[in-house]
Amino acid sequence: MKTIKDVFENYRLNLVKMYDVNEVNAITSLTINNVCELSTAKIKAFPEFEISAGQSLKLKNILLELKTGKPIQYILGNTEFYGLPFNVNPSVLIPRPETEELVEWVINSVSSKQWTAGSMLDIGTGSGCIAISLKKNLPGFTVSAIDISISALKTAVSNAELNTVDVEFVEADILNFKPETKAPKFEIIISNPPYVTLHDKAQMHSNVTDFEPHSALFVPENDPLIFYKAIADYAFTRLTSGGLLFLEINESYGSQTVELLRVKGFNNIELRKDMSGRDRMIKCELIPR
Ligand code: GLN
Repeated sequence: MKTIKDVFENYRLNLVKMYDVNEVNAITSLTINNVCELSTAKIKAFPEFEISAGQSLKLKNILLELKTGKPIQYILGNTEFYGLPFNVNPSVLIPRPETEELVEWVINSVSSKQWTAGSMLDIGTGSGCIAISLKKNLPGFTVSAIDISISALKTAVSNAELNTVDVEFVEADILNFKPETKAPKFEIIISNPPYVTLHDKAQMHSNVTDFEPHSALFVPENDPLIFYKAIADYAFTRLTSGGLLFLEINESYGSQTVELLRVKGFNNIELRKDMSGRDRMIKCELIPR
């Protein structure tokens, strides 16, 4: 592999069985961008650009890892979410574009409520992508985040440092979390909890199921809303009056999750689709009677 064009050809040849062509091209461009520190525009404009022997070796080694099915984000150790850099490793889920849409919804809702300050909690923070991008865009808010996994929390702490924001990270399991009744309340609670069932797993790409953390993805087939029940109970006692709960959800359980929230006592429940047209997120409000 001497030129950029050779890299694209070699990657395509080796990865086309695993990913579709557009994905292979995106992965190749991202890899060249990381290894050769060339912008996407340069990579496109100069296919005959010659890369060094050292870079060529790095690109070959990355290709070997890609062929095992390992996601490029884990190989490179970084990704981008909401325009910000994040460190990622197999202890955290790779941030998804649909979660960016959820973050956008929170930011827009805060601005329509004309809130300039308050507190927020992110439940099951993983890489910290939600909590950190919210703190970056809503600096007047105090942001806390919990996760059950110590290694995820370490990654999240490194990401808060990388993005120079102050977020409080706490080790806690939402399924066994007893809220202190006297602790201060939150204006906003947000979560992208595990929601993938065994049935969904069967349709998923092996580079998700073989490499991403199962504790962040899967739920028991007989209780797919287990996390939503716990989060709703917690939010019911810990949201301020008029406070908002935002959830990323399983597209197959849109109406069931809405119903669950209604029964638990939430109001103004809004179900939204993601960019692929799938029921993917819910916003609701707590208006105590
Ligand atoms: N959207 C993720 C996926 O399909 C799942 C995220 C989650 O379980 N919270 O891989």
